[in-house]
Amino acid sequence: MDFYTIISVVEKMEPEKKKDILEKGAIIQRDGETYAIAPHTPAGLLTPEILRTIADTAEKYNVAAIKISSSQRIVLVGLKEEDLDDVWSDLGMKPGSAIGICVRSVRVCPGTTFCKRGKQDSMSLGLKLDEKYHSMQLPAKMKIGVSGCLFSCSESAVRDIGFIGDTKGFKCYVGGNASSNPKVGELIAEELTQDAALELTEKIIQFLKAKNSKKRLGKVIEEIGMEQFKKEIGLI
Ligand code: SF4
Repeated sequence: MDFYTIISVVEKMEPEKKKDILEKGAIIQRDGETYAIAPHTPAGLLTPEILRTIADTAEKYNVAAIKISSSQRIVLVGLKEEDLDDVWSDLGMKPGSAIGICVRSVRVCPGTTFCKRGKQDSMSLGLKLDEKYHSMQLPAKMKIGVSGCLFSCSESAVRDIGFIGDTKGFKCYVGGNASSNPKVGELIAEELTQDAALELTEKIIQFLKAKNSKKRLGKVIEEIGMEQFKKEIGLI
């Protein structure tokens, strides 16, 4: 057997590397063996019952860690692949879309519901956006942020679509992201009512679907130009 034949035989003998399991919302961990899952917790709102269920499940399956994610989810880390179905069944919750090409997260601050600085009802808008768009399959991944005042605790300006409340309504920013090449979104509308914010979001989502580009919203806007983008979503 020559050298190259030996190498190819050895390569074939190597066990296949484990990957994320999309349909189970399971993310392969650094050890290459175990998985993390993140149940969907809209707007990061929890109840004692949800926390108890998560804690009981974490204990039962002996997780390595319980971690709060930047997308307002509680992540169970270090699960065995063979336990994933039972874990989801015990949780009785849907997976949060921490992976996949879809609307990954709608990050929401407490707004006028709880926060003394709140100027707009970010919880109400955020929950409606979450209900309609969370997990929706799109050509590119998308993150949404909703903040109840200019402090922008949901970091709305670095989301693909971000809303920030002020005394007159919601401002809308588009095209932001906080990844390896961070970009602050551009302000495209102000003084939006909640209904107007929902309408505008729908137009942006339809625009993205029609473009069918794998690039994130900010890149797509960069390519066609802001004026054209505004025309296509009916703002001018
Ligand atoms: S953005 Fe404003 S309303 Fe929302 S949590 Fe921060 S300070 Fe409160």
